[in-house]
Amino acid sequence: MKIAAAAPLAPALARPAEGAAAYPGDSSPRVYLEPFDYNGVRLLEGRLRDQFIATRDYYFAIPDDDLLKGFRARAGMPAPGNDLIGWYAGNPARPRDIWARGDTFHTFGQFLSGMARLAKAGNDSALRNKAATLMTEWGKTIEPDGYFYFSRHPWTPHHIYEKTVCGLVDMYTYGGQKNAASLLETITGWAVKNLDRTRKTPSPAARNASGTEWYTLPENLYRAYQATGNSLYKSFGDLWRYDSYWGVFSGDVTPTPAGLHAYSHVNTFSSAAMTYAMTGAPQYLRTIVNAYDFFQRTQCYATGGFGPDENLVAADGSLGRSIEATSASFETPCGTWAVFKLGRYLLQYTGEARYGDWIEKLVYNGIGAALPMGERGKTFYYSDYRLGGSEKLYLPYAAWPCCSGTYPQAVADYHNLIYFRNSSGLFINLFVPSQVTWNCDGSEIVVEQETNYPESGTISLTINSAASVPFDLSIRVPGWSSGAKVEVNGESYEISTRPGSWATIRREWKSGDRVAIQIPMRLGFSRVDEQHPNRAAVTYGPVVMVRDDRPTLTPAESNLQEWMPSPSGGLEFHRAREKESTIVPFYRVGYGTPYNMYFDLEE
Ligand SMILES: [Zn+2]
Repeated sequence: MKIAAAAPLAPALARPAEGAAAYPGDSSPRVYLEPFDYNGVRLLEGRLRDQFIATRDYYFAIPDDDLLKGFRARAGMPAPGNDLIGWYAGNPARPRDIWARGDTFHTFGQFLSGMARLAKAGNDSALRNKAATLMTEWGKTIEPDGYFYFSRHPWTPHHIYEKTVCGLVDMYTYGGQKNAASLLETITGWAVKNLDRTRKTPSPAARNASGTEWYTLPENLYRAYQATGNSLYKSFGDLWRYDSYWGVFSGDVTPTPAGLHAYSHVNTFSSAAMTYAMTGAPQYLRTIVNAYDFFQRTQCYATGGFGPDENLVAADGSLGRSIEATSASFETPCGTWAVFKLGRYLLQYTGEARYGDWIEKLVYNGIGAALPMGERGKTFYYSDYRLGGSEKLYLPYAAWPCCSGTYPQAVADYHNLIYFRNSSGLFINLFVPSQVTWNCDGSEIVVEQETNYPESGTISLTINSAASVPFDLSIRVPGWSSGAKVEVNGESYEISTRPGSWATIRREWKSGDRVAIQIPMRLGFSRVDEQHPNRAAVTYGPVVMVRDDRPTLTPAESNLQEWMPSPSGGLEFHRAREKESTIVPFYRVGYGTPYNMYFDLEE
């Protein structure tokens, strides 16, 4: 048996050399890991695959005419079908509802993006054709000057344009629709001439300044430039960099973003990441590295969710107090999508395993714990972590909110987050029943991952290849774990399994080789913040658990080692002789079922 050293991945941060210019100009940053970009990864039977299929079927079933009706009506064309209501279209006749003043967060661009990604991931030509038809028919409604909105009343024009850019880039990249490029050029012609360039700095006192979210524009404009080579997108993207906010995280000062709009102030880090991809300037990498740590330290609940009432909070106990007050604990689909992207960029540009941890939490407690999309655009928007009892509900006052756009994007992205690769081999970031096929130095290799994780900490990998191939197989050791163990072909394999690192097996692999990974799972507490040391959620590995009765734990109950797993299997715990008090994963809770997530431990 060979013993490999711990993965010698390159240093985390590309720091500028002594005396180097702070802004070295455009150069390519080093890429440590590459995602599979929706190629070669297949989900196998399990919860995530079920969610993927349900999501695909839901969006596939929305009638094209309904999705196009407003655009066609605005363009003076025959417009059959029924209006999708709510945030998709808005209703200018109801001025008292600000979300209905005009078309606000209409999600057409995100639907194109989600469908393109779902179709690519699932090799689904029917869905791809639907998305292509939608794009083509919508393209006919674009006016000669490039005006492309749903109505004459776009309330958040930057925001809608940004989502539409994303949709068209994804149709071009994942949907195989080369005519998406000309549509993108046309609407960008309008945006260059007409989008307001004031770039009002968001502040807690003037929340509406962030309403158009101009500071999320660079990411997809730079992706458009990378996809098409058209420098129009690069120069337009440069205009919207958010250096006043990003810069706070790249320096030594403590950021104080309390009160800023939460989702968009995480989503904007993807624009910082793409600015790093475009320029190689190290301060943008420092921004996303430091932002990740800052958010872990000060903004996140046990679930990985953040942003009570959609606000960032001060690190003064506000997070712990928030669960006494609001049911709007976490904007779940949008927030998950923002974290998935940020985590992926960090894995790409640092190669560090620890950036898989936030992604993993939201796979189980964020989008993976969301209710499925409901009839007529009903959407699970806020997760509710309130002390004293909560329920999972749909957003009560509007259909088709922003989160109905990020929902399919985030679910499709499971395929893009499980595996990564580089020239030395394969990296396993998430433990999900799945199969990956990739080309390693000319040899096609298939790795099948079997697991019941997180209900069990056992993961089994089988390698299939025509010939023996040397490569490194690296497994993310979760930061919360301890004592993970690896076996190769049934024999213990001595290897570093330091939490938050890659455990790397370096050998020549032959077909039929098997790897078994054991990650010990145990119940624990995750306290909400430093100011509330006795206010905590119960966790099992990366999973947040909930209970259906009281939001307090007595001293006897607080010894979690006395909670026994249910003999029926699955993640269900109850104290010996107290079967009526059961702890189950948050992801298992359905619509309208009461639960308690946070507990005050009685002295
Ligand atoms: Zn949302």
